Amino acid sequence: MTTLCFRHSAFAGHVTPAGHPEQVARLAAVDAALAGLDLRFEDAPLAADAEVLRCHPQAYLDRLRAAAPTSGFAQVDGDTYLSVGSLEAAFRAVGGACAAVDAVVAGSARNAFVAARPPGHHAETETAMGFCLFGTLAIAAKRALDHHGLSRLAIVDFDVHHGNGSQDLLWHEPRALFCSSHQMPLYPGSGRPREFGAHGQIVNLPLRDGSGGGSMRAGYEAVIFPRIAAFRPELILVSAGFDAHADDPLAGLEWQAEDFAWLTQRICDLADTFCHGRVVSCLEGGYDLPALTASVAAHVGVLQERSR
Ligand SMILES: [Zn+2]
Repeated sequence: MTTLCFRHSAFAGHVTPAGHPEQVARLAAVDAALAGLDLRFEDAPLAADAEVLRCHPQAYLDRLRAAAPTSGFAQVDGDTYLSVGSLEAAFRAVGGACAAVDAVVAGSARNAFVAARPPGHHAETETAMGFCLFGTLAIAAKRALDHHGLSRLAIVDFDVHHGNGSQDLLWHEPRALFCSSHQMPLYPGSGRPREFGAHGQIVNLPLRDGSGGGSMRAGYEAVIFPRIAAFRPELILVSAGFDAHADDPLAGLEWQAEDFAWLTQRICDLADTFCHGRVVSCLEGGYDLPALTASVAAHVGVLQERSR
């Protein structure tokens, strides 16, 4: 077996205004990384409305559809835009994440990577924000729990920004351990250690500007990995943002590609111990294009090594 990878040409149909960091060119940077690996590719399917409704109300879906432009852009948040192709891309991001969960739970792949945009971890229940429309990873988590009947899963969100949307969507979900590391202070401002979730199942690890990969490794070993081991997940989902890289223009955590490789190895170690290696990883941020290529190559390279 090898890593199953979901892509789709529709992800390039989500266009953002000139100069926006979450740009179509990110896909080519990701593809450059994936091209060097031996992966099994599939097209991300369109999610049914019912999948999105696992986390968002019908009124929110209706509001986004009503806002979708027939040309140009519609602004739905300070930095979040809809273009003509945005909703198809967002539905296929959810569809890819759900199909990845289906394949990994069924055992037809040991792990999977979803190379989708727009990202998802900032989208709250009724609020598009931070370049995100749907809470893609939280929806995939709900599918694993409610459709496949898993008892427990863990989420690792290592995007440099706090996964406020995933935290909001999973706040009352005792079966999902949500662990986020993020630079603080930084957008969106949430993610303090005292934000525990309704069942104490949310773990926030704030990291200081300039703290580097060494602080990240120590923080994960001290705070996040023991909680995952104690939770004994049946699946690990990853919000894989690469904007903690030293070259990223939006943040300053100063990680290198090898830090993403280390983190992925340790996540796979936990998955091997508790859940037959099952890992589903979804692309979130990462805005310096060469750093994105190097970081995705490091992350998915480890997934591929560990998929056999
Ligand atoms: Zn981010």
